[in-house]
Amino acid sequence: MITSLKARPLTFDAEHKMQFLFALRSKGVTDTRVLEAMEKVDRGRFVTGLFEDRAYEDMPLPIPCGQTISQPSVVGLMTQALNISPRDKVLEVGTGSGYQAAVLSQIARRVYTIDRHQRLVREARAIFDDMDITNITAITGDGSHGLPDQAPFDRILVTAAAEDPPGPLLAQLKMGGIMVVPVGQSDAVQSLIRVERTEAGLEYDELRPVRFVPLVEGLGRET
Ligand code: SAM
Repeated sequence: MITSLKARPLTFDAEHKMQFLFALRSKGVTDTRVLEAMEKVDRGRFVTGLFEDRAYEDMPLPIPCGQTISQPSVVGLMTQALNISPRDKVLEVGTGSGYQAAVLSQIARRVYTIDRHQRLVREARAIFDDMDITNITAITGDGSHGLPDQAPFDRILVTAAAEDPPGPLLAQLKMGGIMVVPVGQSDAVQSLIRVERTEAGLEYDELRPVRFVPLVEGLGRET
């Protein structure tokens, strides 16, 4: 009998889900809402091409425009640090593949996500539509200025490294709001910072070392 040599496509089946969730838990992702959201959103939908058979491994992977989809455990830890409630309006700066926004959309009321690369936003929108996710608005723009039209936000997540938490984003955080942002030089290990706006002012917590692509001003050149 002749059997096909073509590899079976990778699916987010029970075995892959079990390994994926095990890796998340072992790296400190313990919030049930976050784990449930990450079990629902198939990361394989957001990784295409050469690396698609590695979609369920706990590693960052290349995506178009020279960018990366973040490591799943880092996505989980950042989402957990935001402590999102179902009523929250969330801004994500750095749409990339759209995976993080899709995870946020399972927990928050509404997600605005912005990226400087039009191609990434277009491709992420197509996946959201295909997955029937209706509470994400994806926008092309320079997210370092935030989204003044939709501000203020309950939660802000920055998925590219800034030298300091960007002032315009801090200004768009509601009272009681939380922002999570990697801070530091782009070619070095950065610190993941959690900032909370309280009556007494902004409170900063350093969470863990991370490595992100830099937050770059202006729009990407390709369309
Ligand atoms: N959250 C993404 C995901 O789930 O795939 C991963 C984001 S990737 C690590 C960082 C993203 O930030 C890139 O797509 C990059 O284009 C974007 N970026 C960098 N500077 C930006 C800026 N000023 N405004 C908006 N997006 C920016």
